[in-house]
Amino acid sequence: MNRVRCLILNAALGPLDYKVPEGVAVEPGSVVECPLGPRTVIGIVWEAERLPGTEVPVEKLRNLRAVLPVPSLSAPLRRLIEWTADYYVAPLASVARMALSSGGALKGPATMTEYRLTGGLPERMTPQRMAAIEALDGEQANIRELAGIAGVSEGVLRGLVNHGVLEPVEVDCDRPYDRARPDFAHVELSAAQAEASATFAAAVREAAFAPFLLDGVTGSGKTETYFEPVAEALRMGRQVLVLLPEIALTENFLHRFEERFGAAPVLWHSSLKSTERRRAWRAVAQGTAQVVVGARSALFLPFAKLGLIVVDEAHETSFKQEDGVRYNARDVAVMRGYFEGVPVVLASATPALESLQMAESGVYAKVDLPSRFGGAELPAIDTIDLTEEKPPHGMWLAQRLVDGIEQRLERGEQSLLFLNRRGYAPLTLCRNCGFRYQCPNCSAWLVEHRFTRRLACHHCGHEAPAPQACTECGEPDCLVACGPGVERIADEVAERLPQARVFVATSDTLNSPGRAAEFIAAVEAREVDVIVGTQLVTKGFHFPELTLVGVVDADLGLEGGDLRAGERTYQQVAQVAGRAGRGSKPGEVLIQTRHPEAPVIAALAAGDRDAFYSAETEMRREAGAPPFGRWAAIIISSEDDAEAREAANRLGAFRPQVEECLILGPAPAPMALLRGRYRYRFLINARRSVQLQEVICGWLRQVDHPPGVRVAVDVDPYSFV
Ligand SMILES: [Zn+2]
Ligand SMILES: [Zn+2]
Repeated sequence: MNRVRCLILNAALGPLDYKVPEGVAVEPGSVVECPLGPRTVIGIVWEAERLPGTEVPVEKLRNLRAVLPVPSLSAPLRRLIEWTADYYVAPLASVARMALSSGGALKGPATMTEYRLTGGLPERMTPQRMAAIEALDGEQANIRELAGIAGVSEGVLRGLVNHGVLEPVEVDCDRPYDRARPDFAHVELSAAQAEASATFAAAVREAAFAPFLLDGVTGSGKTETYFEPVAEALRMGRQVLVLLPEIALTENFLHRFEERFGAAPVLWHSSLKSTERRRAWRAVAQGTAQVVVGARSALFLPFAKLGLIVVDEAHETSFKQEDGVRYNARDVAVMRGYFEGVPVVLASATPALESLQMAESGVYAKVDLPSRFGGAELPAIDTIDLTEEKPPHGMWLAQRLVDGIEQRLERGEQSLLFLNRRGYAPLTLCRNCGFRYQCPNCSAWLVEHRFTRRLACHHCGHEAPAPQACTECGEPDCLVACGPGVERIADEVAERLPQARVFVATSDTLNSPGRAAEFIAAVEAREVDVIVGTQLVTKGFHFPELTLVGVVDADLGLEGGDLRAGERTYQQVAQVAGRAGRGSKPGEVLIQTRHPEAPVIAALAAGDRDAFYSAETEMRREAGAPPFGRWAAIIISSEDDAEAREAANRLGAFRPQVEECLILGPAPAPMALLRGRYRYRFLINARRSVQLQEVICGWLRQVDHPPGVRVAVDVDPYSFV
């Protein structure tokens, strides 16, 4: 019969049936245009038996409007979309939307107009025209981009087009990428690397689902280890997906990739221009994008012939999406490998407990790289007890740490101070009236940024100029900065070691690949003595002259009291410690703490990873926390506090009674106000035997809410705010 069921890309609509017009061919996965009332919406043809809907008599069906000129979404990708929606209790349409993530790509082949110099000159030369002609030598781009390159207005360039100085060129939007060559260059591997590499390459040849945990200490050369299996996939004509946590900081990775394969990989992240986005999407769908390096959203790209998935720094919490569909890319990557029937390599120096547990229970094969590449030694780690070695009044660095930095200065080596707090101070208050500066949209203090002289909210982006006088009592010069951020630590270093050249490395200063590249170049050229940075500098960097790492406040991460606080602290400190002594010179790490006896700090100081993991495992087992039990959060929010509270209470009245499943709440969420929405939270803790998703779905279905209320489900939450 010529009727099909379509998944419509609108979470408010259920599946809809349509008639296939005469002469039109569709199959499951076809991307189609569907009429809906007077509008046209995009849908995906789906297997009707997998997508229950209401039967509409055939005479009432409307015709599909068109089949879009893109390859059909493959069965493995459709299964992944279904699994993700089920597991994370998200609308199928919202997940499917992540697969069709470029509107432009769906329209089919396209060209665009670019401009380049013809070699001619205008009849009338002006200084601006002259400057433009000089700057645009060898360039080709659209008018807006050329204006940016030349530093002149678009009007100037349009004038040059009229005079025949610039000529239009029609360019294919989907021109192919440079080919990566599997045997372009050879990389020297250690024996351990070669063995691991061979294991992965064999799995690529097997072309079957095989999850691996690549557990390698910092500096052991994990990247080179998975380059050979990447090459193997390329030789077989298969595509590769590499997920990285911080796409802005991939400069170093891209450089190594290009040296090995002779061409850059295809990038996928949220700040791609729409033309780059469509080009990448179409190349992935057609199978011509060989290696895609991307942020978590790359997981849902429509690969034509995937052969390998790598998740680098797999423990990173940025793989967890915290809005929309709240999925964990690390876990979804494994499922994609399962549905596609390809190997998946999770690489980390500090694996998540969940991943280690999967390896221990034999689900993942564990591959170890126990030593650093080239014989470099792991750094020596020591703690500084801040209750005994107190920093001077109003300062944050103990004398021993400052002495350590000074020694490095004298030897021409570099130091890194780690504090996971952007800005100058996390809290500003009035000495006169006690007023504390809070975000109007969130339950959060405003953070002072002294470089930009502003107070900013790190949750919603609210910003205000830092006031000269207290906005409450009007008293001038009475505002006090409380606590340190990286900018304040940088000031302290400058004050105590005036000869030091200090660089603050945060997402404020390294906010583009270009800025990140400049930073790396400056450190490599030894134009920087001391880096003060947030978690952004804990990974990926390889600076041979960096021999001292100071952790300014190791207790910071432990204060929140959330489930993963210990693990996160361990990972962050171990990762940042791993930046020290990566070259021929030995590294030293000094950890400032008020609780040197805390198990996570003691394990770090002793370099005893196993001790930390076994203590953490026991703690989680007792608490029924992942991987031994499961958590889920349900957040009810509204711009109106009373409406949110009532909705939460109404839902609470219908709470299911399920054995071995504890439902806490509703209670105001720790962030009771976030981006202008009032939030109430239920927390669910269940044994693994409980069908958690079914419990949640059944519960939520019983209650309808007014349109202003949003219900968000977070399965396996990472953030408990
Ligand atoms: Zn005041
Ligand atoms: Zn805010």
